[in-house]
Amino acid sequence: MDMRLTATDRDLATKARDFAEQILIPLEDECEEHDGLTPGSHASAKQAVLDWDFAAINHTEANGGKGYDTFQVMLIEEQWGRATGALWDIPWRPSIPLAAGTEAQKDRYLRPACRGERRDAYAITEAGAGSDVTYVETTAVRDGDGWVLNGTKWHVTSGDVADFLLVHAHVDGDPAKATVFLVDKDTPGVSVVRTPKYMHTFVFEHPIFAFEDVRVGDDQVLGEVGGGFELTKDWFVEERIMIGARTMGASTRALELSLEFAQRREQFGKPIVEFQAIEFMLADMAAEIMAAKSLLYRVCWEAARGGIDRKQLHAKASAVKLVCSETAGRVIDKAVQIHGGRGYMREQPVERLYRELRVDRIWEGTSEIQRVVIGNELRKRGVEAYTGWPAG
Ligand SMILES: Cc1cc2nc3c(=O)[nH]c(=O)nc-3n(C[C@H](O)[C@H](O)[C@H](O)COP(=O)(O)OP(=O)(O)OC[C@H]3O[C@@H](n4cnc5c(N)ncnc54)[C@H](O)[C@@H]3O)c2cc1C
Repeated sequence: MDMRLTATDRDLATKARDFAEQILIPLEDECEEHDGLTPGSHASAKQAVLDWDFAAINHTEANGGKGYDTFQVMLIEEQWGRATGALWDIPWRPSIPLAAGTEAQKDRYLRPACRGERRDAYAITEAGAGSDVTYVETTAVRDGDGWVLNGTKWHVTSGDVADFLLVHAHVDGDPAKATVFLVDKDTPGVSVVRTPKYMHTFVFEHPIFAFEDVRVGDDQVLGEVGGGFELTKDWFVEERIMIGARTMGASTRALELSLEFAQRREQFGKPIVEFQAIEFMLADMAAEIMAAKSLLYRVCWEAARGGIDRKQLHAKASAVKLVCSETAGRVIDKAVQIHGGRGYMREQPVERLYRELRVDRIWEGTSEIQRVVIGNELRKRGVEAYTGWPAG
């Protein structure tokens, strides 16, 4: 069993680490102080994404992306996850279901989004529909040769910088006809209800959008009418894996900072790392990161190169998200404790990560929902997905 990274993969991870260190992390203080970046900083960061060749890492070259496989995308996101302020979201990664579009839709939405000329956001959640997507009340009703959409969507991440939205709606209000529509933000009837503030500092916003009698054409239906649930599931799978990746990058940074601090900080005449209470916290952090990261790499390797099917990947992605995000929560709590009062200061990366990693146990399906997915897999197909090992 050869578990070593190939030279190509290792070089890619190194390049992503350099991008995080040279481009993203230097923007952290500005992002924290001003609750976002100035237009100038946004523009130069965007240019850096193009210069470093990191635009649309998750799409095929035919669709305008970089053609990396899931394992490579994960390696990149892991390094970007080191940055606070959600600066990892600056390099655009157009939603994966856009690849299910027609060639005309790809030319209108996906390929310009890959080039950085357009940007998407995904709108599923509503006031009454969170963990249970079948509760969505946004409707799409046939009208002549098009559709009329009505509804309200919550927490639309990067909706402020997006210029089109993937809107998960129910045709005729029927959950069996869940459908994803491509909606240009400047379409009459689309408006921002409000832009709430959240616990974390995030380089972009999560506005609430209203759709009032929004007319779209048949050419704005992504995939099939009734195929929306599967498309949205594909999005969840990719995002859950990427949350696994970023939480591991963030946890690793928190451990590095904590070790360095504990070796430097002296109390009672010696560096605090010499107190076993501190050393044991560091040991738990290291061991837990090793376990969660091993799971992440293994599942991503299977997804990219191991011939895993879609259902198995859905089941395993939930384990990745659950284990990595819960691990990160424990790691960052210890990191703040090791830093003492300094760990509570916003100027410290560990304080920011403490606030920012909390959402990883909530969005793209809470930890409870990941357990529901894992439980379903156990009941339907047994324990193999979790206890087995891929064989040649
Ligand atoms: C910062 C942020 C960004 C987001 N970005 C987006 C976005 O871009 N697009 C988008 O569509 N959505 C987005 N979301 C929404 C996010 O995916 C939901 O918040 C999440 O899925 C949970 O839904 P909910 O908030 O309605 O909680 P609820 O579903 O109301 O859950 C409340 C509690 O009940 C628990 N619960 C619910 N059902 C079960 C069950 N069956 N078993 C056990 N426990 C259960 C949950 O685990 C949770 O603890 C974002 C959310 C946040 C906070």
